[in-house]
Parts: sequence; structure tokens; C-alpha cells
Amino acid sequence: MQAARIIKPNESLQIQQIETPKPKGSQVLIKINSSGVCHSDIHLWQGGYEGPGGQFLKTTDRGVKYPLTPGHEIAGTIESMGEEAQAQLQGAGGGGSAFDKNQKVILYPWIGEGLCPACRIGQENLCDKPRSLGVYTDGGYADYVLVPSYKYLVKLDEEMDLDSSATLSCSALTAYGAVRNATLNPYDNLVVVGAGGLGLMAIQLAKSITGAKIIAMDLDDNKLDVAKKSGADSAVNSKKEDPLKAIMELTDKMGADAIIDFVNASKTVETDMQLLRRRAKLVLVGLFGGELKLNLVSMPTRAYKIIGSYTGSISEMIELVSLAKRGVIKPVVSERFKLDQATEALSRLKDGKIIGRGVINP
Ligand SMILES: [Zn+2]
Ligand SMILES: [Zn+2]
Repeated sequence: MQAARIIKPNESLQIQQIETPKPKGSQVLIKINSSGVCHSDIHLWQGGYEGPGGQFLKTTDRGVKYPLTPGHEIAGTIESMGEEAQAQLQGAGGGGSAFDKNQKVILYPWIGEGLCPACRIGQENLCDKPRSLGVYTDGGYADYVLVPSYKYLVKLDEEMDLDSSATLSCSALTAYGAVRNATLNPYDNLVVVGAGGLGLMAIQLAKSITGAKIIAMDLDDNKLDVAKKSGADSAVNSKKEDPLKAIMELTDKMGADAIIDFVNASKTVETDMQLLRRRAKLVLVGLFGGELKLNLVSMPTRAYKIIGSYTGSISEMIELVSLAKRGVIKPVVSERFKLDQATEALSRLKDGKIIGRGVINP
């Protein structure tokens, strides 16, 4: 099989011929149809991200090993299974409905070691010793991927599109987790910062499952147009207009009840802090990085909540698949790439040129 791999950070990805794995025990081999290209793949490619004081936090310091096949938003079909996986997936253990060869699935990539307190309560995405696909183990920029257990497969209906379904496991799940962490009440004003792939899905989800009024904020008018089509009630271009003035005008001078920041850079979060209404929640999701100077007294007196939000659980992913089946969210896949265009795909994403989501079709 072929895989597009990061051999060393910051070098072009290389297409390597590697032996197709043979699943054993509970393992399942998936033939990949679609692998979403995600911002966190850029961090793997660059070998890290910016931390406090401009300090560079290296991926290898948190257990990432190169060469690595990135890609954690994976949709495909079941190719083969280990004996135990076969017994479970084709018997009663498959949740009452069997999974056969060629069954369309998406993979839950946020795999934990299974034993820490987070894993014990079904939050493997917050595991102390994560084994995520495409981050700590080889992922989806390849013809096939080996999944350690059948329990990480989520069934898709035959009519569901694999390209857009792939994005459910990371960008949509992250957006869903963030919207849930924002605990929105009806009539709340929600500001969504960053109208890229994640921001657009958060807008669709918030529009469908909450009563909040949604304001999209970005620097790019094209993205803001798509945001409005996705359900945003209004849009603010923070490059062209003063965000504080614009948000106060749109919220009867009250400010935002919640902000979900999909950029999460020093500059955006500094602005966010000025836009918050009393009691407001600031949900930080993006991985751009940097640092924040906090006015400590205003934290208790204005009762702000700052919340970090990272992907979601497998049960949330199953919920999302059901929302997608009902057409509640329509992931926007705008560009498709072949395996040998992986570097180009990452560069275009890094330069902010992909509206919605890019997907690799091996
Ligand atoms: Zn991702
Ligand atoms: Zn764990």
C-alpha cells in the first residue's frame, strides 16, 4: 500500500510503499476513501506549535514519532478483520446489526489506553496516554489504516457521502463539543471566531440545536458569506471594522453571552475578552497558540468562564452521525486532493486558502 508520510518536520511529505497490515484479534483493516486535512496535521508537519512566550512546543516532546502517516478524519470501508473483531462485528456484539466486509464506516480516532480516569468514563479523547490515529499511530493519508479495535468503527448509511462524513470525526466533533461546552440559552448572542471548516460546522450545529443568535467573525469576506449561508445571523469582518463596536451594535450594547474561538491566537483572544458580557463563556478551541494577559479582578466580578474544548467522545460522534443523516449538518468539502498532493493540501490549508474542508482521496 501507499502512504504519504512526514519523514521529518517541515519537509515535503513522501509517498512510501509499505506493507499492508494484516488485522489480528480485535483489529480491523479499513480501506480508506477519504481523509480530511486538518489544522492539527500542520502542527505535526511543522513539528510543533507556539506556546507561552513564543516558546516552540515540540510534538516529539509529547510522544509523536516520525516517520508518521498523518490523517485522523478517516472514512472508508471494512476490508478485513481479526478473528475477535469478526466474531463481534458479525455477531450480536455489533449492536444488533452486523458489520460486513465493504461496510461504510468512519473511525473514532481519539483512542486512549483504556485505563485512565477519562477512558473509564468514555472520554478517551481526554486520555492521559493518548494513542490517537494519525497522531501517535499511522493514520489516514494512505490506502489502508489498521484500527486497534472494532469498537472504534461507527457505521454509516449506504447513501452517506464518505468525503463529508470523514470530517465528522474531528472538525465536526470538535465543533459539536465546543457548542455543548458553550451551554447556550435561547436568545444568547454567540460569536463564532474563525469561519473555516470548524467554525462553519459550529454555526450549523448551534443554529440547529440551540436558540442562540449567531455572529460570525473572520478577516475574509468570502468565508463570512459562506458562514451566513450556513446559518450565521450576522457577520463581522474584524479586519475592516472595529470588532468591539460591531459586536456591541449587534447585541444591544450587551456583548456576547458566549464566544467560541476557533483561532485561539493571542490577538483573537485579547479581542474576545473585550466582547464578553457579564457571565459570558469563552470556549477556546483553535490551536494557533500564543499567550494571554488576564485582568484577574474582572474574572470574579464579571463571572467569566474560560473553557478549553478538545474534540469529543465516541458517543458524541455517534450522535453527530445521526445529526448528519438527518441533514442537520452539511460539512462543506471544497477541495479534493490525491495522495501525492498531500503537501500541497497542507500548504493551502496553512495559507488559509481552503474554504470549508480539504479531503485526500487515496
Ligand atoms: Zn483534526
Ligand atoms: Zn486513558
